[in-house]
Amino acid sequence: MTAASACSTDGATSADPERVDVVAAFYPLQFVAERVGGDAVRVTNLAKPGAEPHDLELNPAQVGQVSEAELIVYLAGFQPAVDEAVKQNGGDRAFDVATVQPLLDAAADGHDHEDEAAGAAEHAEEEGNGKDPHVWLDPTRLATIGDKLAERLGRADPDRAADYTARARTLRAELTKLDAEYTAGLKTCQRREIVVSHTAFGYLTERYQLEQIGLSGLTPEDEPAPQRLAEVAEEAREHQATTIFFETLVSPKVAETIAKEVGAKTAVLDPIEGLPADGRGDYLSVMRDNLTALRTALSCS
Ligand SMILES: [Zn+2]
Ligand SMILES: [Zn+2]
Repeated sequence: MTAASACSTDGATSADPERVDVVAAFYPLQFVAERVGGDAVRVTNLAKPGAEPHDLELNPAQVGQVSEAELIVYLAGFQPAVDEAVKQNGGDRAFDVATVQPLLDAAADGHDHEDEAAGAAEHAEEEGNGKDPHVWLDPTRLATIGDKLAERLGRADPDRAADYTARARTLRAELTKLDAEYTAGLKTCQRREIVVSHTAFGYLTERYQLEQIGLSGLTPEDEPAPQRLAEVAEEAREHQATTIFFETLVSPKVAETIAKEVGAKTAVLDPIEGLPADGRGDYLSVMRDNLTALRTALSCS
């Protein structure tokens, strides 16, 4: 019992002295840390591929990784277990991306012409701070996170500060290109409402003037209430949705039920909270797959 806690200040024996040891709380933060850090960092992702990261629980080894990392990249309010580990052991090594890219209010960007606003507010309360954490789904905001992470890495590792800045600039260029593809690809569409599994797409819908109708709120649920399913089916009919989206890391069962009821298809729209279990693709390729899926579902020209 005592041995585990006694080494928190000087336990970095297994760390690579040549590289900055970075712990990322979930995939999009891993992506940014690897892109900006390049070969100067070693990035460990606390969430495993194929696992839904909202309800991540940390085992003792991972708590150890948090206490020994040179930099912890996380998003306060997204994963309570990570927040707690950072509070206990993070010291001044924690980098909360929500402090460099302010979050939107959870209920401010929903689809609320009927009674969905109440549902969103309810979920916001459950989430804790009433903020929508899914900030990475706006590429321009992710670019800002990359710039700020480069500054932070440069302070931790001043000799290579210029390299971090240069890589963040390259990442920004890639994300700007992706943003332009989205803007062009979603400019002229027959519909602008998307029916999704959980309301992870607030930043994406705000950036590209879409609206999301979620089966559940900010956190995925296996079984939304029957009343909610009926409301969403009604919404899907009203907006003539051809597609009910589901996520790669959550069961498609509910989406399939609604799709059958309203005569729509199902397709994947990935909130990129983690990569699939086979680890294929990266943030940029999944975002491009999402754009293709959106253009089909919304009949964009
Ligand atoms: Zn989510
Ligand atoms: Zn509606």
